Amino acid sequence: MNTADFARQDVLDRLRRSAGDPHRRILFTGATVVTMDPALGVLDGADLLVEGATVAAVGRNLPAAGDAIVVDASGTILAPGFVDTHRHAWEAQLRRIMPDVDDLAGYVTGTLLGFAPAYRPEDMYTGTRLAALTALDAGITTMLDFSHNSRTAAHSDAAVRALADTGIRGVHAAMGPHFGAWDRQWPEDLARLKAEYGGDLLTFRLAALATDEIAGPGLAYGPRLARLAAEYGVGVSVDAVLGAASSRAVLEWEAQGLLGPHVTLIHATGLSADAWRAIGDTGTTISLAPTSDAQIGLDTAVPAVDEALAAGVRPGLGIDVEVALASDMFTQMRALHTIQRMRAVEAVHGSGREPSRIGTRDVLDFATLQGARTNGLEDVTGSLTPGKQADLLMITAEEVNNMPLNDAVGTVVLGADARNIEAVLVAGRVRKWAGRILDVDLRALREEVAASRDHLLAAVRGTTVTD
Ligand SMILES: [Zn+2]
Repeated sequence: MNTADFARQDVLDRLRRSAGDPHRRILFTGATVVTMDPALGVLDGADLLVEGATVAAVGRNLPAAGDAIVVDASGTILAPGFVDTHRHAWEAQLRRIMPDVDDLAGYVTGTLLGFAPAYRPEDMYTGTRLAALTALDAGITTMLDFSHNSRTAAHSDAAVRALADTGIRGVHAAMGPHFGAWDRQWPEDLARLKAEYGGDLLTFRLAALATDEIAGPGLAYGPRLARLAAEYGVGVSVDAVLGAASSRAVLEWEAQGLLGPHVTLIHATGLSADAWRAIGDTGTTISLAPTSDAQIGLDTAVPAVDEALAAGVRPGLGIDVEVALASDMFTQMRALHTIQRMRAVEAVHGSGREPSRIGTRDVLDFATLQGARTNGLEDVTGSLTPGKQADLLMITAEEVNNMPLNDAVGTVVLGADARNIEAVLVAGRVRKWAGRILDVDLRALREEVAASRDHLLAAVRGTTVTD
């Protein structure tokens, strides 16, 4: 790749000056384009034209319109941005604060009961912005922020503004907190948030839990929350869907007519066969969290790939909590791919039903197109399909860790990491270029994050946390 060419400052300057122009064209040339559109597949030596905010065309030898900004993308893979379907972004300044936590109660006690009540609106802003910047840096262009520390309207405002300020495609899924004092403004405040901030890059969902087992009452999905979500015109993301109690809840929701493609069930570990039948019959979407299931130990801890596929559901993937887990999508794809293949091979040597041996294309599909579908954004993002938004990654495939380029999907899933992501565009706007995240003063960010973390540590040390 002619790195010097695309990394030139004047190219970036032209891209930034023209960022808001709906007619601005960028022509990426000579790339391997992994479209993740089933009809278009992978194209070698291909071009991709971005016009304004959208992908205008993909193909070989696209004509260079006179005013297009031409970017030599030879030696790179163009891929759709990853879509995260579940992350608690406000926790980012608490990253790896409990790296070896191995049960849900430990996480709930430490984070949701311990730190969450000490959060001020500015801490919500700092954590959420840090998570979103890190997501962009690692090629996640759409992030669903399951924001379950909405203590006051100001806390929610801060979380939403943080998404907006990074230029990520943000899905703010609002939920009230589990513990501590709060204004009880949720869920009704969601209508205000949507009216005030909804736009091209920001969408909203209602967030809830499967049951009131963790922190009841009032946070569990049911008829009242479903009615409000319908009234506000938002989808619903339900966390902590696991085990026998959640299985019973799924059947109740089915009986009440509360399931459907607009509802996402997160984790979905240890669910009964009946619950999976209900999920499949209603077209409900699923968000897997391969690393939190395994590391924190959520019910069976086995990613429910077979159950989902057998029910006709191709799942999305999510990161969950950075207090104990890695923050990028490469980790999720590789963990799921490896766990599932290990189980499939193991079954050959044992007995019972052999798990499906999913491939690299499957996990990339889960991490892009299926994530978009899960977040209710299938028509907007998730594949490099002409007419969709230009949420795309340029990944170098000629670095020491991933040369030579023999299989583009294999290279994205198994050979690349955040350092290979040379460029990230969201809605045609450049968020990372020449390997550098844009519009971030790293020194100021460090100070802001450290000050917020220090406040939270001091607040928690000053209170009595019982466990
Ligand atoms: Zn979660």
